[in-house]
Amino acid sequence: MKPDRPILLNPGPGTTSQAVKDAMMVDDICPRESAFGDVMMRITQDLETLTGQPDLYETALFAASGTGAVEAVFASAMTRGSKVLILTNGAYGFRMREIATRYGIPIETRFEYGQAVDPNVVDEALKVGRFTHVAMVHHETSTGMMNPFEAVCDAAHRHGATLVLDAMSSFGAYPFDVGAHPVDYLCASSNKCIQGMPGLAFVLFHRNRIDELSKGAAGLYFDIHAQWSGLKRNHQLRYTPPVQVCYAFEQALKETLAEGVPARWDRYRTNYGILREGMLGLGFRLFCAPHEESHILMAFHPDANLPRGFGHFHDHLLGRGITVYPGVIPETNTFRMGVIGDLHPDDMRRVIREVGTYLATVR
Ligand SMILES: *Cc1c(COP(=O)(O)O)cnc(C)c1O
Repeated sequence: MKPDRPILLNPGPGTTSQAVKDAMMVDDICPRESAFGDVMMRITQDLETLTGQPDLYETALFAASGTGAVEAVFASAMTRGSKVLILTNGAYGFRMREIATRYGIPIETRFEYGQAVDPNVVDEALKVGRFTHVAMVHHETSTGMMNPFEAVCDAAHRHGATLVLDAMSSFGAYPFDVGAHPVDYLCASSNKCIQGMPGLAFVLFHRNRIDELSKGAAGLYFDIHAQWSGLKRNHQLRYTPPVQVCYAFEQALKETLAEGVPARWDRYRTNYGILREGMLGLGFRLFCAPHEESHILMAFHPDANLPRGFGHFHDHLLGRGITVYPGVIPETNTFRMGVIGDLHPDDMRRVIREVGTYLATVR
């Protein structure tokens, strides 16, 4: 590993290993050939293995950014007589609301930006609301808050509702127990905690959803049942796959399974701890309360710590090979740092050193 390689602290596309980058340099191949079909099949198998319950889950793959996976669930599973309870405590919850609105799906929402999700509020809503689905974000990447999907999943199932989980920025690192909490739809993408290149989105769906999905989708492209059954039948996606991204994803999955989710989770938590302690030591304040922290990404209040503004801070660090990310929290001036990617404790120490040096020059 080059000591001065770029470090990406934006929450994906993250820092990738050299082997993942190299995997894209393949001979040209038509994706309709069986050798490429084998790549696709290995990808879906590895994704199902990553759930920990490969016998319970099926995969639909799309050439898309992660939002495509979330849209695919709304377009494929909620077309008739559905009513969805959407938990909106951050930007990605609000994105779900926007998707539902575009498809004309009846919804209600609970929670406000930055507010912690209280499973009792969800339970109360489900008692009276006749909801068919609950949709929520697991790690709310806009605030760095981890939402309690386990309790919400249990509440949804108690009331006969289906749980849709945007696990975009946690799947691959967070130790999901889908045996105990069988999420019905889990959405994620190639370029976050699985540490691949951007370009593939996927929906892992519980086998008990096949019936619901077979009733037809509102979208042509984002049809989970057609995409899944087509791949099973032909070992091909219906439309052009991002060929080189698939090779990189195959490699990234291999590395994820070799490291193992528990070890990856430990590595992220260790990185997070170093970054957190260093930044707090330099005087920054966290947006989340300690029990809400994701251990994957943190949002900071810059306060008086950045007298020349976030842009100046960002540009300086970028010149030193480190990418920090602006915030999105409305009315609040935050910036974000995540540990998604092929990052290690020495990288975190390098970041803290560089931030310290920067602050000494501007304060
Ligand atoms: C990254 C992310 C998405 C998808 O964003 P894209 O830009 O479409 O890849 C969705 N939800 C969450 C929680 C995310 O972190």
